[in-house]
Amino acid sequence: MFALNAHLTRQTRLWCGNVFCHGLERPGATRKMSTQRFSCAELLGWIVSCCCWLLLASPTVAQQWEVHETLGHVELFSEFRLLPNVVAAQLASVEEELSRNLNLVQPDNAGIQVIVFKSAASYRAYLSSRIPEARHRRAIFYRSGDQYQIYAYRHEQLLTDLRHEYTHAILHRALPFVPLWIDEGLAEYLEVQPERRARSSRLMAMKWKCRAGWKPSLRNLESIPSAARMTGDHYRDSWAWTHYLLNESDQTRTLFREYLAAVSAGAAPGAFSEWVALRDSEVEKRVGSYFRRFRISLR
Ligand SMILES: [Zn+2]
Repeated sequence: MFALNAHLTRQTRLWCGNVFCHGLERPGATRKMSTQRFSCAELLGWIVSCCCWLLLASPTVAQQWEVHETLGHVELFSEFRLLPNVVAAQLASVEEELSRNLNLVQPDNAGIQVIVFKSAASYRAYLSSRIPEARHRRAIFYRSGDQYQIYAYRHEQLLTDLRHEYTHAILHRALPFVPLWIDEGLAEYLEVQPERRARSSRLMAMKWKCRAGWKPSLRNLESIPSAARMTGDHYRDSWAWTHYLLNESDQTRTLFREYLAAVSAGAAPGAFSEWVALRDSEVEKRVGSYFRRFRISLR
């Protein structure tokens, strides 16, 4: 369907740890949208397939895109006439929140390509010969060297998918590594537009679970050995810890920001639970009460 670019403009390098995806089925999720990440075997498959795919996959103006616009450091390609300003506003919102809350410094030289297909069939057709493992995913974030790409397709939650994957792109652009629960926790949190978060069914469910005496375990999240072992509950609890740290108080938000600053500086701060316990031993204890007390908006 597309005349694919057969030339790479620069050397690329595959970094498997930076391949993320939105899946079609998230275990335990109540929404249609879901998130999965690749197993090691799948990622090895990516190495093979991407070696070929990288020779073909860089979108260019030579392709028949309905939309091709550069919006700051985002280069948007779309098979259908979406409104670039709407997409740009959503991506800018994600970036602004990350910057304001966590003070992430973005490099100037790394653009992000956002590639949107007109249908699931078109998206899968594009990916099936290049990244067969990804064709059933709803959206993916892909990094190769200083090239960052997001692939997604048109459906009612497209903007949610773009917000999620863009969070991954911004995090991995700014940080040398991102702890798994923070990576997915921020993506899950930021995928929801700010004005809709107070009515979240996930927030309501967390409130009632915490009222029953349960609380999300940070150490449990930190013990997940790989992305492939993340379950729906892990995504939920990563979201919950992110929600708590960003919103409970200036103190928790500052601790979160300082931990990521240590990561950004190239330090090895260790697990967040141990790092934060040295600074405030009460932080881990308060997560349950944060959700128990949460006032849910019914509007
Ligand atoms: Zn994700």
